[in-house]
Amino acid sequence: MTRELAGPQEKCGVVGVSLDGRAAARPLYYALYALQHRGQESAGIVTHDGFQQHDHVEMGLVGDAFEESDLDGLAGEVGIGHVRYPTDGSVDTSCAQPFSVSFKSGSLGLSHNGNLVNADEIRDELAGHGHAFTSDGDTEVIAHDLARNLLEADLVRAVRRTMNRIHGSYALTITHDDTVLGVRDPRGNRPLCIGKIDDGYILASESAAIDVLDGDLVRDVRPGELVVLDDDGTGFESYQLVEADQTANCFFEHVYFARPDSRIDGNLVYDVRRELGRKLWEESGTDSDVVMPVPDSGRAFASGYAEAAQEDGASVEFAEGLMKNRYVGRTFIMPTQDARERAVRLKLNPIRDVVEGKTVTVIDDSIVRGTTSRQLVDLLRDVGAEAVNFRVGAPAIISPCYMGIDMATREELIAADSSVDEIREEIGADSLSYLSVEAVADALDASEADLCLGCVTGEYPYDIDGEATDRTVERPDVGAQPADD
Ligand code: 5GP
Ligand code: MG
Repeated sequence: MTRELAGPQEKCGVVGVSLDGRAAARPLYYALYALQHRGQESAGIVTHDGFQQHDHVEMGLVGDAFEESDLDGLAGEVGIGHVRYPTDGSVDTSCAQPFSVSFKSGSLGLSHNGNLVNADEIRDELAGHGHAFTSDGDTEVIAHDLARNLLEADLVRAVRRTMNRIHGSYALTITHDDTVLGVRDPRGNRPLCIGKIDDGYILASESAAIDVLDGDLVRDVRPGELVVLDDDGTGFESYQLVEADQTANCFFEHVYFARPDSRIDGNLVYDVRRELGRKLWEESGTDSDVVMPVPDSGRAFASGYAEAAQEDGASVEFAEGLMKNRYVGRTFIMPTQDARERAVRLKLNPIRDVVEGKTVTVIDDSIVRGTTSRQLVDLLRDVGAEAVNFRVGAPAIISPCYMGIDMATREELIAADSSVDEIREEIGADSLSYLSVEAVADALDASEADLCLGCVTGEYPYDIDGEATDRTVERPDVGAQPADD
């Protein structure tokens, strides 16, 4: 896997549990199942039984990666887990997680969702101190940095030192021997939340993972906060280690990536998508016979759109005119345009009876390369749509994501250097509208300054080589000795 910032970035799911009187492996396994949408390339679990660390990391889906005997071998009441997103489709176990390492003062397991901007600088600096790296991933950089700091400082100080050196997005679950930690970067770019389950506590990327364990969401981990789960499963300690003036929550988690049944930073994702759909109607509603979602991700948007339209007295009807074959995965990351197009055709099939002779509004959450929308407009015309209006539940994606969402490169982004009308022309729709950035901030009940909008504005909340920033940010000087705490 390449590690250039311009290349595909990782989005992942992380989890950690500390239980009392019950092995951690199975709850971790079920939690990973609930986070499967966040990563299908590899799955892994690290546990600690009080004496030693155990790990099992395997390529593939959660259900395929673990046998019963693997789970039995993962002894201990504490542990962490990880699912990793496919990037270029290559099979590469060196980047599968959790990353585990043993060093002088103990063992570490680390699961990372996000992407560091300055990993190379830190890797070079640590290599100069004799650290040997086995992968070119940034997770290993965090693990080594933390391991080094743990030789000189207690746990909380060591984490703070590492946080003061790494720049970028990270939601981490960590085992340090039999202690489980959760860390969220100072701008809270990627989600992480705390839950209470029957016999312990859980940290997870999304609250849906707490739900499947019949637990209750306690709250989100705060940006810049370290959470340390008590090893007897009775509670957790909180340390606000770094303060940032502004947050940089990723809006795309709400638009596409997260499950609609998850609650992130105070918002239920389903409600946000419905609200974005309502705003689409307000901003660019158009009369048509039917409004239909591109399944599955367009569904909540289309239902919000239809509801707002009907409240306004429009006679538009909500319909499911596109069926999805749920066994076709990963169309987005297929290596060639030809393969992606064939996959979209396999994945989505229109229902002629719903569409024929009708004017149609189709709603998808996002347009990235334009593969899906171009094909769908064609398909809908083939089965007799009178008109095809395309509405998008996000602003135009004009710039790559460096923060952990796997988007295309700038050259591949259909909106990178085309006007909306040029895109409309290219996908062959009768009309095309995106949602405004203001509408996104509104639906999230956040100010634009507290969101990461890099992919839709081209201005990032981190200091990224060759890109503009929308705030005052400084990369840490990783050569400097950490100022003590
Ligand atoms: P496009 O076909 O324009 O390249 O991508 C847009 C479609 O891909 C939309 O249906 C959207 O739901 C989906 N999508 C957007 N971002 C991602 C992503 O990061 N991964 C995957 N698999 N699909 C995505
Ligand atoms: Mg989709």
